[in-house]
Amino acid sequence: MSEVLPVVRLKKGREKSVLRRHPWIFSGGILEESDQKSGWVEVQDVEGRVVGFGHYSPASQIRVRLWSIGPARPDFCALIKERLQSAKARRAALAADTDAVRYVNSEGDFMPGIVLDKYADTLVLQIQTAGAEKIREDIVQGVRSVFDEPNLFEKSAGRTEEDLPDRAGVVYGKLPEPAVQIRNGPHRLWVDLAGGHKTGFYLDQRRNIRLLREFMEKETRRSDSSNLLDCFCYTGAFGIGLKEIFGRITSVDSNSAALELCEKNWRTNGGSDKSAEFIRADAFRYLRESAIGPFDAVVLDPPSFAKRKNEVDGACRGYKDILRLSMKAIRPGGVLAAFCCSHHISADLFQKISFAAALDAARQVQILARFGADVDHPVSIDHPEGDYLKGLLLRVLGA
Ligand code: SAH
Repeated sequence: MSEVLPVVRLKKGREKSVLRRHPWIFSGGILEESDQKSGWVEVQDVEGRVVGFGHYSPASQIRVRLWSIGPARPDFCALIKERLQSAKARRAALAADTDAVRYVNSEGDFMPGIVLDKYADTLVLQIQTAGAEKIREDIVQGVRSVFDEPNLFEKSAGRTEEDLPDRAGVVYGKLPEPAVQIRNGPHRLWVDLAGGHKTGFYLDQRRNIRLLREFMEKETRRSDSSNLLDCFCYTGAFGIGLKEIFGRITSVDSNSAALELCEKNWRTNGGSDKSAEFIRADAFRYLRESAIGPFDAVVLDPPSFAKRKNEVDGACRGYKDILRLSMKAIRPGGVLAAFCCSHHISADLFQKISFAAALDAARQVQILARFGADVDHPVSIDHPEGDYLKGLLLRVLGA
């Protein structure tokens, strides 16, 4: 006999979003929730009909994240394993190009609260919510049985809204130190899993780097004077991905550890001092105050300026500012690849901000292409909130 699960009863009519398969239940939609810490719960409509099962986060506005819809109670361990297996199978085709892959993308892979990334022989697990934290043991068991990589490192951070502290540590195997080397298309990159951002690397940008390389190969006649600015470069993924195309690449970031790894990555891929320049600076100041450029191309990949909804206004000003400064640093006819990873800023809004920046920069600008996250970061169509990365490839003409 399986244990009786705590029940979350919804207010009248609030089961509709569940029946439309949206995986989140907000605190405002709940009539009764039994006194529970967190973990698996049964969700019922106001009449007591079971509408789904999910895990419960007592401190979060998103109280329940659903793993299954309908009255049938799943075998949770089997469900976890099955979801891991199918998420893994869906990534099989990526292995030809890289050994760094997002295996599980939370709601996008129907495993809310769970992120699992592969970096060569090491998996990095991120448990994002209190509900997921409660089923951590079952997740770890599932990962161990489904994946062959010998090392599992946990790096769960940024959980204050869930009232959870950060946790980092080896779950099994070992942590490759000081960094692990991954294969990214034709290049090799060092990734600092423990000390780096996110799980160590911006896997979501991999396809955009490839698309940009394909575009630039046709666009740019390589010469010693052709130049690229990789602004907010982190550990250099864009610059290195484009290094065969430009004679000179300037990489700018305010984080010295990231910049050090960027230099190391550059050397690992045979870059010469002549072709690379690394600048530790605030990107706004660098663009505003330095006598730079003009560049043939700029990659602009800033951190999220709006982590919360109430930060959107300030973020719009920040994006507009940095876009305007970048446009001014580009020679007429050059290109700007500009990204925004805040899910509070829609693709539409980002385009409007770019328009306002072009006006202020007094430059004519054309949209050549649009970017999103790579295919190992799927967004469930039931859960559009999972869509966060957007970008524009812009041609920046003269006045
Ligand atoms: N393009 C990178 C990811 C960039 S993440 C890649 O594909 O790997 C954003 C980067 O911006 C981080 O490395 C962070 O250190 C840097 N950063 C944040 N604020 C900054 C600022 N004001 N000036 C320069 N760099 C900044």
